[in-house]
Amino acid sequence: MALRGPSRTTIWLRFSLTMLALSAVASASVHVSTYGASEEHCQPAYNKFVDTVERVPFPDDWTVVVVCSDVAWQVALLATRSEGRTEMALTNRKHRWTLVNGAVWDPLRNRSRYTPEMVLRHELGHILCECRDEERANEAGGVNK
Ligand SMILES: [Zn+2]
Repeated sequence: MALRGPSRTTIWLRFSLTMLALSAVASASVHVSTYGASEEHCQPAYNKFVDTVERVPFPDDWTVVVVCSDVAWQVALLATRSEGRTEMALTNRKHRWTLVNGAVWDPLRNRSRYTPEMVLRHELGHILCECRDEERANEAGGVNK
């Protein structure tokens, strides 16, 4: 789910400044961050999120962000002009970030057939196939294996 266009970039820059202030390093080269709450206040999603990110081989210098509340998710969708496109995750290949809705770690809110790892692998698939196609992304990310 690529985002394009100068206006989105401008909006994202503002958005990312807030986000990167909260960034931390999960592994040698993949950065994890929270949006909408501090790591401390994003529990229990944050710890589960870090565990899941560690199982998915995102490329070097990739930033993976867990969005910590339903309100923050709506704000993130507006900020990236992605309203109505996804309830789970979105990836910007050019700017090397993936946003994931913290709700996917909550069994009461994640009513899809996708586990959190499948959601992240699907996003990885978009990165690897360099495409927006959903089936090819599943295949490239190894979602159905
Ligand atoms: Zn997708």
